Amino acid sequence: MFGWTGIFLQVDLNKNKAVAESYDANVALNFIGGRGFAAKILWDSLKPGTDPLSPENKLIFAAGPLTGFGLPNSGKFVVAAKSPLTGSYGDGNIGTSAAVQMRKAGYDAVIIEGKAKSPVVLHVKNDVAEFIDAKDFWGLNSFETEAQLKSIYERTAGIVSIGPAGENLVKFATVVSQEGRAGGRPGMGAVMGSKNLKAVVFEGSNDLPAAYPKEMKELSAAGYREILTKPNYAFWKQQGTMSTVEWSQENSTLPTFNFREGVFDKADKIGGYAMEKIKVSTRGCPQCNMTCGNVVKDSDRKLAELDYENIVMLGSNIGLGNLKQIAALNRIADELGLDAISLGNVMAFAMETSEKRRIPEKIHWGKFKETKALINDIAYRRGFGDVLAEGVQAAAAKIGHGTSEWAMHVKGLEITAYDCHAAPAMALSYATSSIGAHHKDAWLISWEVQVGRNSYSEAKIDKLIELQRLRGGIFESLVSCRFPHVELGFELEWYTKYLHAATGREMPFNTLNYAADKTLNLIRAFWIREYGNNWTKNMDVPPVRWFKEPLTEGPMKGAKLDSVKFDVMLNKYYKKRGWDERGIPTKTTLKKLGLSDVAKELGKCVNLSE
Ligand code: SF4
Repeated sequence: MFGWTGIFLQVDLNKNKAVAESYDANVALNFIGGRGFAAKILWDSLKPGTDPLSPENKLIFAAGPLTGFGLPNSGKFVVAAKSPLTGSYGDGNIGTSAAVQMRKAGYDAVIIEGKAKSPVVLHVKNDVAEFIDAKDFWGLNSFETEAQLKSIYERTAGIVSIGPAGENLVKFATVVSQEGRAGGRPGMGAVMGSKNLKAVVFEGSNDLPAAYPKEMKELSAAGYREILTKPNYAFWKQQGTMSTVEWSQENSTLPTFNFREGVFDKADKIGGYAMEKIKVSTRGCPQCNMTCGNVVKDSDRKLAELDYENIVMLGSNIGLGNLKQIAALNRIADELGLDAISLGNVMAFAMETSEKRRIPEKIHWGKFKETKALINDIAYRRGFGDVLAEGVQAAAAKIGHGTSEWAMHVKGLEITAYDCHAAPAMALSYATSSIGAHHKDAWLISWEVQVGRNSYSEAKIDKLIELQRLRGGIFESLVSCRFPHVELGFELEWYTKYLHAATGREMPFNTLNYAADKTLNLIRAFWIREYGNNWTKNMDVPPVRWFKEPLTEGPMKGAKLDSVKFDVMLNKYYKKRGWDERGIPTKTTLKKLGLSDVAKELGKCVNLSE
């Protein structure tokens, strides 16, 4: 096989054992890599109802067939497991040299089960895996952990680790690498912590098997050059995703005060131009010439990285308008290994709940010191922080008193940084994303603003499905960053050329779209299998706030979603997907996608429509 190494490393922490296993070439061809591999492995090997924080859950690091070849924006892998936050499929991608090193060590994926008796670091160097006592690392934050491991291993080693949040099983703990590259929003850090696994160190020195190595090198160099020619390149390097703050403010999609509003009176203080004034450098994922992490000196005089999602969720959404202070909160979140998006969402929920006096705790909007203390309380599960550490859905359920009306999540995963009072298609994107509310599968809000915000049209559903295939299916399975295409217009043909040079196969977009649909339907099946008869269509509906409470400020004042029209749109979406009126894939759909075995298994949990 070319492109893929054809090997998964199966690690059992109960037995301190690691075994390299070849896998069927059809798995590679059908599921590509990354998210596709993770979905396939979890579907095949996890018993429904498995406790996500039990030794039986599997933590998966999965790369794609392009990872490690040095191609532009391909230094990433997916981290996946059954999520403790949502109770179903969870994943996230991380840009890290660990992905490159894992592939060079010879593995397309590393699958970790069991639980170590005491904290360990897993060190994988080519065909040798060792389990290192990590008692001295337990309790360190993710930056300290990586720095100490770097002093032990080769400079080129790739490292992923968890901070105290993962150790304390915070349900939205992430896996962190390279001081700020974090992934696995739905609690992948907690899954790692539940296994007593503090870090994984990858070192690899093998050549990856390219079908056409010369062509690969030439294409790679040409790809980097092409990116430099794109008109938006210079501005991207200046601001990365930060310019979205100004755009969101103009278009009333900037989450403010727990998604009550779409505009923030201090937006100009936290936007791209404000960031430029304090920017000191840029950081990014390996193998990328678009590095988009804006490094600034924060209010604690430490270096922190800024991007749109983090600064909005820890800024306007909690009523904080000081960029250096937001940067400090973001750095603390990264050090502790907390997902900054969920964190901002959960804290805004707490602030609103306190304001409405549904809890005795006094938690105020936009108070820096108070917020800092609350973040630590969440990571260490102290006091009310322990309630919030369960995520916004569970916190609202525990507090009661109608607080679920302002718990901003879908399927238990907190909403990311786009307000959708006046964006029905983006709301549908959140509602139907593979892991709960996340924009990575289909970020269509800027397109929606251009085509008209009020409509619930079929064209919007078609666009949503197109983007879910491309971003949630193809990019997440290649594990290649979507920004070159999305932000700079880097043409999609590059990826088919890359795939040809790597695998020796023609993999045109209709093949990739088919694989994407296969993966997205398999993930859907995973959700249905987990929830069984408790699965309802309501799980595909965005928060009630967007339907009930209109915006009171800004250019879209008065806007809110229409529940009847949204329901019609959701039904049409199901139909186009080949799912029944409950949102469950039909037997015919699964069969068409070559998933008849999945239909058989799923039929044991729920009645499947023909
Ligand atoms: S553009 Fe940003 S997210 Fe994408 S690979 Fe480069 S640094 Fe990473």
